Amino acid sequence: MSTIDKYNKYVERQRRKYNHQRGKHSHLRDSQQTKCYSAEWKYLEMYPDIKECMSKKDAEKFFKRITKSKMWKDNGWPTELVWLKDMGDRRRLNGYAQDGLVRTVSLSPSGCSKYTIIHELTHCMGYWNHDRLFRIWLVKMVSRFFGVKEAKDLKQCFKDEGLKMSKPREPLAYGQWLEKYNRLVNEN
Ligand SMILES: [Zn+2]
Repeated sequence: MSTIDKYNKYVERQRRKYNHQRGKHSHLRDSQQTKCYSAEWKYLEMYPDIKECMSKKDAEKFFKRITKSKMWKDNGWPTELVWLKDMGDRRRLNGYAQDGLVRTVSLSPSGCSKYTIIHELTHCMGYWNHDRLFRIWLVKMVSRFFGVKEAKDLKQCFKDEGLKMSKPREPLAYGQWLEKYNRLVNEN
């Protein structure tokens, strides 16, 4: 294998380490989902107003506010809201996100809160599982659309569950990597 191929492999490995489940074609398990949900559950106890179910009209308004924002235009993807059939108390979930040419957030009319919308839209930014980059962007979205304190508390709830929140380190540039690589080769 050529050195440049080795470097590319290294970059790929580094990226995967932090965002290993990005994309719908992943066959890796969404290993941090349970902890993520449990952190969110504790978080929403602190902010009952953002977990309250909204009317369809209010939900559509809030959805639009986000998808028309600059933040969304810079970081998001064309995404539409789809209403699920209202199952009342028998509903199995409040919402889910799906990939596509136009991505969709499907919401249950009887369980649709501001928080559900933010969470599902963050998936539609391309972070399909609940790993570190998803959480980092979720906190950014909460900061932008709910407030700084709300974001800080959410971050803390994730940390309390033992979930990492620091920004992933960028892989080494080729020159730096080569230096390190040569050193290792010479040592052996
Ligand atoms: Zn999710």
